[in-house]
Amino acid sequence: MTRPKSPQTALIHTDYKAPEGFAAFPSAIHHASTVLFKNVAAMRSGDWKEKNAYTYGLHGTPTTFTLEARLAEIEDGKHCLLAPSGLAAIAMVDFALLKTGDDVLLPDNVYNPNRELGRWLSQDFGVTARYYDPLIGAGIAALIQPNTKLIWTEAPGSVSMEVPDLPAICAAAHARGVLVALDNTWSGGLALRGFELGVDVIMQALTKYQSGGSDVLMGALITRDGALHERLSMAHMRLGMGVGADDAYLVLRSLPTMKLRFDAHDKAARQLASWLKGRPEIGKVLHPAFEDCPGHAVWRRDFSGAGGLFSVLFDARYTEEQTDRFVDALKLFKLGYSWGGANSLVMPYRIGQMRKGWQDQGVLVRFNVGLEDVADLIADIEAAFAVM
Ligand SMILES: *Cc1c(COP(=O)(O)O)cnc(C)c1O
Repeated sequence: MTRPKSPQTALIHTDYKAPEGFAAFPSAIHHASTVLFKNVAAMRSGDWKEKNAYTYGLHGTPTTFTLEARLAEIEDGKHCLLAPSGLAAIAMVDFALLKTGDDVLLPDNVYNPNRELGRWLSQDFGVTARYYDPLIGAGIAALIQPNTKLIWTEAPGSVSMEVPDLPAICAAAHARGVLVALDNTWSGGLALRGFELGVDVIMQALTKYQSGGSDVLMGALITRDGALHERLSMAHMRLGMGVGADDAYLVLRSLPTMKLRFDAHDKAARQLASWLKGRPEIGKVLHPAFEDCPGHAVWRRDFSGAGGLFSVLFDARYTEEQTDRFVDALKLFKLGYSWGGANSLVMPYRIGQMRKGWQDQGVLVRFNVGLEDVADLIADIEAAFAVM
């Protein structure tokens, strides 16, 4: 430029550069669609897959790279990819690892949208999706076919709370060259070491504990194996899986307190579950740390803690009309999906329609125990029992 900038151009271009050397604890929030290159050579040499350079906002900024690196560290993995929701991360696994003619195995108690994705892949994409008993353990070997490419696991299933035997499933899968994906959202990656148990890819719904604020939707895929990460990266790129800088920052901001929050949720949930276990209204407490819960022995072996989410089966004498009245009478427990935030939540499920063999069980109600005082939560439930 040989002449002074006109005011219109000065609104857009500036020669000012903030001084270098600024340091603070929070990560900077980098917003970007376009990423600028110094010159053509720099533009040509950066490889988006290697994440050694910035190429386009969708493929990463310092904010998203920082969050990815931190999530990989927490799970003791090497690589991480962010997705705009937990479900988007699940879909990315399926689209990266499955093609027409392949077969995928899902636990019968899987997160329902994951099941729906399996149904869609079966109906329209020529992939077969089959469902297995989550407590099958080594027995899964008998279900593996030559075209089986992927086994989904969820520990525990987030409604029926059954805990799968991951080492047994992983051993059977790997003996036949099948990859295992784990939905590790319940433990937040803090109380279950997925890679040590043999899992190949870990999915986290960051929407839950990592966010902790009931205000963000985000998901992550974490891997150790570079080749597997590259396959997932290709799907990430082809599907345009980007996340917003402000959302990534909200998760980064919540990470330092996550273990404290998780432990508080765990303690409160166990106190509440213990109290419920002694109540005549409750038939069964489905909390992995309690003996009633299918897979409890596996939980004791593999987990170092528990999340704030558990379910109960009401005593068979209660009708759905009564348990609905109970749910509606709760004041501190709000009716809503999701979990991992400070607010307690409740949700009734028709478990007989979701889970084979559970038709004759009582009504299932799931509690997400927030960070309120446990005595107040107990009083809330006690009052709602009286209304029921
Ligand atoms: C919430 C959840 C997901 C999906 O996360 P979203 O961000 O809501 O899409 C997946 N799996 C489990 C077990 C979840 O609880």
